[in-house]
Parts: sequence; structure tokens; C-alpha cells
Amino acid sequence: MDKGWKTRTKLVHAGTRRSQYGEVSEAIFLTQGFVYDSAEAAEARFRQAGEDEFIYARYGNPTVRMFEERIAALEGAEDAFATASGMAAVNAALMSVLKAGDHVVSSRALFGSCLYVLEDVLARFGVEVTLIDGRDDEEWKKAIRPDTSAVFLESISNPTLEIIDLKAVCDLAHEVGALVIVDNAFATPIYSYALESGADLVVYSTTKHVDGQGRCLGGVVLGRRDLIRGKIEPYTKHTGGAMSPFNAWVMLKSLETLDLRVRAQTDTAQSAADALAGHPKLRQLLYPHHPSHPQHELARAQMDAGGTVLSLDVRGGKEAAFRFMNALQVFVISNNFADAKSIITHPATTTHQRLPDDQKDVLGITPGLVRVSFGLEDKDDLIDDLLQALAAA
Ligand SMILES: *Cc1c(COP(=O)(O)O)cnc(C)c1O
Repeated sequence: MDKGWKTRTKLVHAGTRRSQYGEVSEAIFLTQGFVYDSAEAAEARFRQAGEDEFIYARYGNPTVRMFEERIAALEGAEDAFATASGMAAVNAALMSVLKAGDHVVSSRALFGSCLYVLEDVLARFGVEVTLIDGRDDEEWKKAIRPDTSAVFLESISNPTLEIIDLKAVCDLAHEVGALVIVDNAFATPIYSYALESGADLVVYSTTKHVDGQGRCLGGVVLGRRDLIRGKIEPYTKHTGGAMSPFNAWVMLKSLETLDLRVRAQTDTAQSAADALAGHPKLRQLLYPHHPSHPQHELARAQMDAGGTVLSLDVRGGKEAAFRFMNALQVFVISNNFADAKSIITHPATTTHQRLPDDQKDVLGITPGLVRVSFGLEDKDDLIDDLLQALAAA
């Protein structure tokens, strides 16, 4: 698989499987099943399917397999299993390795649905979950016990872009034999450092940067082959979380441009952070590679770039934040991120509306906080748009 190719070459060629027609662009195998040459061939395939042999699309499909191999090559992972959504991937990563009586430590600053799986689903099945402030290495040290079986975290949190010292957490977890599962959505697969830091499983919502054009839901779990094929695949293929071949094709073709897109979006985000820093209408600007970020040094040490998203705390609370959002001309108001279209989100009233106020305070989700996701439009148009809307706030 690894031919020593660099990232952009892998993103265009890795994992390609050509049919007997020799097509240039990857084919969509929009089929749920496969035909066997004989009854004996069916029996043999059910006993042990070979590399190019498939049984049923819930178990695997040639287009889905191309996507899995390409993203595994990008990430430098031994293997990958694609899922119907990012949450199907998070759910599979947790449910396939945990059992009643296990103990999990997780950072508290999580995507709402991840928090639901940990606090509601896992708790109902007798898994004990300890939530901590993931920025504080001392809290990890105190919470991880000799009987802890897994650690879960978002490497960069949403929406306040808190950063976790991955190497330190992986070392602490591995001292007690706990698995480390990283939800890496904000780090992006281009600037990912999760596997190098020691993570056992890395999860992406491919709905975000991988599709990056707002079309399809998807997810993937990457990591050691024994975990992917021994735990993730059996759980997902029998519980129905497989990625559709059509979505896999969209994601596969999107990987071809992923590096170009993420680097362009990141460049715009970094320039916008520089242009907006110190603006009188802002209480705070949060961008991992801007010196004003409270964990700026860690961000620089861990990550080659600051990513495609920044958050702004607008002075004057919700009213000012809403005036700012409504004055934007290029940005659209939505709750996704990492899209070709630049997106503005008010977490307190949308993605994090459900959280009680004291929880919002703990997570820094203030009434003036807006999350800004940079798309592929012209950089100057986007920065001008933010500046004119701030003037109107
Ligand atoms: C979006 C997101 C998810 C869920 O992904 P879906 O594809 O919407 O299911 C999980 N974790 C994080 C950090 C996300 O941003």
C-alpha cells in the first residue's frame, strides 16, 4: 500500500481499484450484493473473503473499500472502516471496545452527540464515565485509574478550540493499558497528529473537511488493523452503520482535492485571525495558531497549522453577535463547518442550545461567541465581510 508517496499523490491514487474496463475515474459500485460463480464459491467466500471479494454492502463494497484505503494511506493508519456518519464512527469506536463495568475518562468539551453517547448510552449499559477539563494534564492524571479501559477526547474542541496535549494523554492512558480514541474533526486529516502521538483509534466525521462541499454524511474509524478488523468491522457490519457506496464515491473524489482545499481554507483563517486580532468590537479571538490563544505554544508544537475555523467573542453579547451575523454578506448562517461556503454559527442558541447555562459557562460558550468556518471564497472578500459586519455590530 505505502509506496512512499507524498500526501497529494496518495490522495489522488491510493486505494484505486479498476474494473475490467480500466476506467480512469473511480467507479461507483452501487450494488448491495455480489454474485458467485458457483455454490462452492459462495461457501468459500463466506468462510474467508479475499482482498477483492465482497459479500454484502453492509460488510464492505469496492467503492467503500477504495475510500477506506485512500484515507488510511493519508493518515498513515494500518486500516480504516467507513461509516454512515461521524456519529456512527464515534458510536462504533466506543461500543465495540467497551463493556459493562468498564471505566472511561473523557474531556468535557465535546460535540453534543458525543456527550450523549458517553453520558446517556454508555451509562445505561453500565460503563462509568468521568468527564474532566481536557486542557489540564493534572486532571487526566487524577482521573485515569488502573482499571480505566478507554480515554476519549476531541483533539481540538468545538466551539472554543481548546487543545489537548495528545502525547501526554496517550502516555498516561497507555501506562494503565487504556485505549485512546480521538475525535479529530477540527484537527483535519491534513494536519492530524493523533496517530503519531500514540492514539489507538482516530475518528473523523467525513461530513466535514473530507466531503467539504456540504453534500453527504459520512464517518471513518482509523487505526491498528487488529482493532479495525477485530472490533470495529464486526460491530458496524452487524449493527448497520455502513457507509453507502454513493457517499463513499463522493468522499473518495473529495479526497483528491482535500489537501488543496484545507490548506487554502487554513491560510484564509490564519489571515483573518491576524486581521481581526485586537479589534475593538471583540472581547476575544480564538485561533490555535494566533499568539492570543491561551494554549498557543501547545498548538504550535502539536500542529503544523491552525485549521480552518476560528471563534470570536463579540462585545455586547447575543444582540451584538446576532447583528454581526445578520450583517454578513458572504458568510451563510448554518451549523455545519469545513464547507466550501464560509459559515457562521452562534453555538449558544443552536448547536449547544440544549446545554444548561452553567455548563455553557464551564465550556466558555458565552452569549457573544460565534464560530467562523472559512470556505473557499476569496480571502479578501471574506476578511472585508467580517470587518464590515463587525462595524455594524
Ligand atoms: C460533526 C461532528 C461529529 C458528528 O459527525 P456527523 O457526520 O454529523 O455524524 C462528531 N464529532 C465532531 C467533533 C463533529 O464536529
